[in-house]
Amino acid sequence: MTVGKTQPTPRPLAEDARALLHALLAHDFPGAAELRAQVDRATATPGCSCGCGTLDLQVPGDVPTTSSGGAAPVEGTVVGPDGRPVGNVLLFVEGGALSRLDITSHGDPLPVPAPEQVTWGRTAWAGRDTVRRPASFRRDRAR
Ligand SMILES: [Zn+2]
Repeated sequence: MTVGKTQPTPRPLAEDARALLHALLAHDFPGAAELRAQVDRATATPGCSCGCGTLDLQVPGDVPTTSSGGAAPVEGTVVGPDGRPVGNVLLFVEGGALSRLDITSHGDPLPVPAPEQVTWGRTAWAGRDTVRRPASFRRDRAR
């Protein structure tokens, strides 16, 4: 439901988001090389209004795309100062291009974490039937 909303201006990726994406895409999976090449030309708009660091990503149309889509097979676990998990980092790909960087939280909204705060592993929830963009799904449902 974007009717009546002002579209925010896409901005070049901030350094923290760029570093996080490169940390995620340092893993080897199908399409990772193309997605890495997209990071430097991507722009971002806020992907959520709750105060978290979630970003919607835009990539110019002339950048090489991948044949993969949906959730990247690598997800991050954000670890708090006491070593306990406080949230997750998920990357979504649509149309072969970077689409959304989701920063989920078990508690208060999380900003984009530094790569040092994140441990990486296989995306756990991304089964065949998983909704492609769970954050917006949840947000819409909450209204
Ligand atoms: Zn949020």
